[in-house]
Amino acid sequence: MDVGVDVTENGNGEQPHSALIFLGTGCSSAVPNAMCLIQPSDPPCKVCFQSFSTPPERNPNYRCNTSLLIDYSPRAGEHKYILIDVGKTFREQVLRWFTFYKIPQVDSIVLTHEHADAVLGLDDIRAVQPFSPINDIEPTPIFLNQHAMESLKVKFPYLVQRTLKAGQEVRRVAQLDWKIIENDYISKRGGQQLDLLIIDTLYRNGSHNTHFCFPQTLEAIKRLQPKRAFLIGMTHEFDHQKDNEFLQDWSKREGIPVQLAHDDSTPIHQYTQLAILMKVYHIVVDYHWTRDTKKSLEIGQELYSLVS
Ligand SMILES: [Zn+2]
Ligand SMILES: [Zn+2]
Repeated sequence: MDVGVDVTENGNGEQPHSALIFLGTGCSSAVPNAMCLIQPSDPPCKVCFQSFSTPPERNPNYRCNTSLLIDYSPRAGEHKYILIDVGKTFREQVLRWFTFYKIPQVDSIVLTHEHADAVLGLDDIRAVQPFSPINDIEPTPIFLNQHAMESLKVKFPYLVQRTLKAGQEVRRVAQLDWKIIENDYISKRGGQQLDLLIIDTLYRNGSHNTHFCFPQTLEAIKRLQPKRAFLIGMTHEFDHQKDNEFLQDWSKREGIPVQLAHDDSTPIHQYTQLAILMKVYHIVVDYHWTRDTKKSLEIGQELYSLVS
């Protein structure tokens, strides 16, 4: 997958390489859908059955929970890794992509919402943190809104709790520095055309109470008019090749290049303005790469989310 933009040179003539790694582009139950494999229909589901013949790394219809890793390189040889969402399939995503792209750590985390497909891998964050039996390590900053924070306190009390209660034994758990972010920055800011929009699309037809489905997704893209858009969050109703052929025609007609993303990496222009929009609580995370590297590195200061 190539967004077709070059990485520009920085001051000393070397080239920093920033990239987006789609750790996952699928729905909460992920693709293949287990039922399609253990109780196959007649004829069987083509999309899910592809997983029997094609290994995941060559199968664009193999989708983990939606998650994105921003590999931000301000200067050649320097990398910051920002992880957006940590779903049920997080461990598999680490084993597949962190090893392949040689990602040594996660520097900060952003949660777009509090559903299982975005947070249930948080326990496994300790697997990508340095080992300390007494949890004596630098906590990883994690950005989320207040609504998600309330839910996380219930789902993962042991990850939120700062001090041990009387009689509680030390257990090694992920060390996280919880940071609440604003909800409504982008809606107020508006205006600017996005270089890249990454947007949710759950079902091929119809609608859903918390997610965009294909018709609403395309409507939203027409409304937002980004320079380019990738679709994520798909169920097994989407066939990567077939639906991208459909989208090719749509893109030509509407003048906006749109395609289904698949699990893998794509290079980005260092100064790409990026928005990730999920229908769940209409959350937008926006990050504008700036030449002000000091500011850029402080991801929390530049990430905003929207709840409308
Ligand atoms: Zn299926
Ligand atoms: Zn969700």
